[in-house]
Amino acid sequence: MKKTIPPIKPERYRVFFDFDNTITRKDIFDDMLVCFSKDQRWKKLERDWREGKIGSRAALSGQIKGIRINKDRLDSYLSGVKPDPYFKKLIHLFKAKNIKVTVLSDNFDYILKKVLDGNCSGRLKIYSNRLRLSGDRLIPAFPFTDKRCRICAHCKKKNLRRLAGRNSTIVYIGDGRSDICPAGYAHIVFAKEELLEFCRKEKLKHIPYKGLKQVYAYFKKRLA
Ligand SMILES: [Mg+2]
Repeated sequence: MKKTIPPIKPERYRVFFDFDNTITRKDIFDDMLVCFSKDQRWKKLERDWREGKIGSRAALSGQIKGIRINKDRLDSYLSGVKPDPYFKKLIHLFKAKNIKVTVLSDNFDYILKKVLDGNCSGRLKIYSNRLRLSGDRLIPAFPFTDKRCRICAHCKKKNLRRLAGRNSTIVYIGDGRSDICPAGYAHIVFAKEELLEFCRKEKLKHIPYKGLKQVYAYFKKRLA
């Protein structure tokens, strides 16, 4: 895929959002580990993942095994998680211009569904890992792994390339390690935190942002 920006026609934009700490203002899964893990084993897995000793699938599988939470408590916790208020505004703006929006997440479908419900979720395509609730256990499944790469549980790059289509102007908005790979295929990258550090280090073209208000301002101007 070429990285030069094609002539910008609104309908050619194809927008991909990360979820944790991008649409939401904190990493929900990390917060759940702190709040609901039965012991401290998740911390070692987190360290091993950060040091590159294990991929996110191994880390997530191990960490989720240590969580104890039933459906009522999980639903109550998730009802308190709100997306960035500019997310809804952005979706309305994109919808008005017929721009397709996809969420690519290394978190789990149940969590995304609960948080995005009532926030234009009907207008989004959502791809993530999957979760089944069984008593106070959470059982994960990983339908979007890449057999040749063990870094991410959900290979966002694969889904992005499959969904972007030809001649589209790919926009990627993210913050973390699982966003590095897909951002490399985007024409316009909004980056914060770890993704921003990576873009700066590797001299990848990007737009730094702190919250979706800035992303909204960018598109409001360009799509006027
Ligand atoms: Mg994230």
